[in-house]
Amino acid sequence: MDPNPILPFAIKPLIWTPDRVFVSCSFGCPAKCVFCYLPEVAADQPTATTVTPQDLVMQIRADPRFQLGPNGTVLSLGCLTECLAPHSIKATLNFLNALGPMENPVQIATRWSPSSGDREQLIAALQCRRSAIFHSMVEWGNHVLESGTPSARHRDHFISRISASGIPSILYIKPFIPNHTERFTRAFIELALHYKIRHAVIGRFYVTSRYSDVSFLHRNQPQSARFIQAEFPVGPTPPREPSNNMAVAAMVAAFGRAGILTTHHSLDALREIYGQNNRTS
Ligand code: SF4
Repeated sequence: MDPNPILPFAIKPLIWTPDRVFVSCSFGCPAKCVFCYLPEVAADQPTATTVTPQDLVMQIRADPRFQLGPNGTVLSLGCLTECLAPHSIKATLNFLNALGPMENPVQIATRWSPSSGDREQLIAALQCRRSAIFHSMVEWGNHVLESGTPSARHRDHFISRISASGIPSILYIKPFIPNHTERFTRAFIELALHYKIRHAVIGRFYVTSRYSDVSFLHRNQPQSARFIQAEFPVGPTPPREPSNNMAVAAMVAAFGRAGILTTHHSLDALREIYGQNNRTS
């Protein structure tokens, strides 16, 4: 199971785990995906951080947990924001540029598709280091739960350009929404095959006692309550783990038959691509 390493949440730009450091160059996100934990734990409206990119880099380098270099600490951008959304992309690019000669791996998980100018800057910043773009999605085409993010057509263009750049693309199917995400298995596989994407991460739905539980979805996204009601009936004690094991296993098997490697954890995908060198806990 993919652990939930960012709990307990805290509004701070750096969150350390044994494997990596999560870097949030801004806070919040305008998309308000139905399943997202950010409205509960980060700024309700997209908010810039007061920490400069240079300060972020200095803080990272000064931390005793940090290990420098291509086999060192993975820098995971996002966490408390959508790092390629319009409110955040400039800060993200500035941070990547401020990394300078540091060769640490960078992973970016995104549901966004930046403008062509930002996209090319992003590619230039990532091509010189171990990096990967995790294209997050819970659905494809039928845009219901993540409707505040760019349409499938626009994301398709971004995925295409990233794949052409040589930067590894990974399908990041997370959170797997039971009775919904599995409907798109064929579309995900066709997308991956079309762009020669070799890896997919299939992650479980966040269910925690306080944040991303079923009641939270109802409270936080009342406009989606009817849809969610059908998928996750609210009870006095929401299930800690949706019974999605069989559906996840079926998706994993389908990907496997198509020759796409799957894991449940993004760092495993990075290790598959870049070897086993990156530090583990
Ligand atoms: S795009 Fe990402 S950060 Fe933004 S609301 Fe959706 S899941 Fe949350």
